[in-house]
Formats: sequence, C-alpha cells, structure tokens
Amino acid sequence: MDVLSRGTALNGNVRIFCCRTTELVQEATTRHDLWPTASAALGRLLSVGCMMGSMLKDIHEKIEIKMDGKGQLGQMVVDAYYDGSVRGFVTNPHVQIEKNPTKLDVGKAVGTDGTITVVKDLSMKQPFISEVDIQTGEIGEDFAYYYAYSEQTPSAVSVGVLVDTDRSIKAAGGLIIQMMPSATETDVQIVEDRVSHLKPISQIITEMNDPKEIVESIFPDYEELETRKLRFKCECNKGKFARILAKLPRADLQTMLEEDHGCEVVCKFCNTKYEFSEETLQGYVYAATEREKKAASKKELIN
Ligand code: ZN
Repeated sequence: MDVLSRGTALNGNVRIFCCRTTELVQEATTRHDLWPTASAALGRLLSVGCMMGSMLKDIHEKIEIKMDGKGQLGQMVVDAYYDGSVRGFVTNPHVQIEKNPTKLDVGKAVGTDGTITVVKDLSMKQPFISEVDIQTGEIGEDFAYYYAYSEQTPSAVSVGVLVDTDRSIKAAGGLIIQMMPSATETDVQIVEDRVSHLKPISQIITEMNDPKEIVESIFPDYEELETRKLRFKCECNKGKFARILAKLPRADLQTMLEEDHGCEVVCKFCNTKYEFSEETLQGYVYAATEREKKAASKKELIN
C-alpha cells in the first residue's frame, strides 16, 4: 500500500510531505495504457495531488489540478481527496519522448506554453481557483513556482517516477518541503543546502521504501504528525452515467440507438467502460420525447 508521511522539522519552522506512490502510478499506467513518458508525467502529477490532498482540512474538501502546456501529452487532470485517494488522466496516453536512452523528457512532453490551474473545493459556495504559468513542464519546479507565486510559501518540490524497461513502475513518489513564516535565515540555508544534495526522489524510493525514513534521513529531528494510506480510486458508477445519458436531447439518443443499437460510455478518469443496451436507450428516448412534448406545450401556453 502506498503511503504519505506529513510532519515538521527544524523546531517546526519547516513542514514536510513525503509520499511513495509506486502502486497507484502503476494502477494509472495499467488502466490508461500509459507509455513511459506519459506514466512519468501523470505519475508526477498524481504524486503532487496526493501531497496537496493531505493539506486539506476535512473529508468534504477536494482538489482538482489541471496542467496543459500544449505538449504532446495534451491536458493532464488529477483529482485529489482528503481520504488519500486520487484519480487522473492524460489526453494522449501514448507518448514516449526521451532526452537520452536512459532519461525521459517529461518537460517536452508536457510543454511550457500553458498553465497549471488548481481548484480547491473547500465545501464553501465559491471554490478557490488559482492559475500560474508552466515554467519547465517538469512538474516539480512548476509546483515550487505555484507555491511561491500563488500561496507565497517558499517550497522545494521534488516528484519522480522510475519506469522499468518492461514499462512497469519501479518507484514513484514525491517530497515537498515548505518554509513556515517563523523560519529564520539559517533555516532557509539549511533547507537549501540539504535539498541541493538530494538524489532524485524516485531513486531515493528505490533505496528506502518508507517515506518517514526518507524524511528522517534528510531531517534527523523530523516529527511525524500523520501517516495516511494513498490509492488510485474513482467514484464513478453506472448510475452516474445513466443520469447523464438520460438528460441528452432526444435526437442524440435516437442516433445512438439507430447507429449503434446501444452505447458504451467510458470514464475518462479510470477508463472503466459501461454498456447501455438498446432497450435502456429506448427508455431514454421515450422519456426525452415526453419531456420535449411537455416543453412544447408549455411554450404554447406562454405564447
Ligand atoms: Zn471512473
């Protein structure tokens, strides 16, 4: 099971989030048939999502991250929830771009001509939306910029995915270190020094599996406040899609009925397919016809 550790160090002057996401990135890879560069990109964003999700305050809150740099991958979308679950997809899962035979080029695949949009649904009326320009497309640096620019929190963000030669996920995870307002100049220097000596997070995860242990190796005085389990989970079900289908205009439903004698709906987030039979569609067409008749007679009354 993937896991996240959250806590503080340097007398509470920095807060730290560290996650191992190997299994959930593997699940995303399998579900979406991601090619290695797409696995690395979506895996990095899912890891950011897990850490942002752990910053939420209660079960009703949710975070939606959209990243679109006009690269080959198209748009990436990740939803993260308070309970440690995440889901996500990329427009084009079949992307493979390399810097060299051993290094994937995530920055190029994501692209830099676009934005990151973060929507925090804090179960209030208006969600909190912020948007920043993509800097490098490498995702870690982009979110360090996001925190500095959008939340005025100096942060080091490292996310990484190691894809094996058979395209399976060898290691994935992330680390966010944030300076609290109480941090001194010395604290900032200590963090900068330690971060500059860090190996890529995916490599650290292959050597040390436990996020708490990883943070303790960087900050020996780490005080863990919480661990949480992480997983790839989509809340979709057939009923949800049935309600959407039932509301479509009659003409659209009629076309599906005549041309395909039924329909298949695919959830973008988890790639689950739901079949709707000819009889079910006929029922929706009937309901839509009744709905349109009612609307027409109402219009006549008004006229
Ligand atoms: Zn789904």
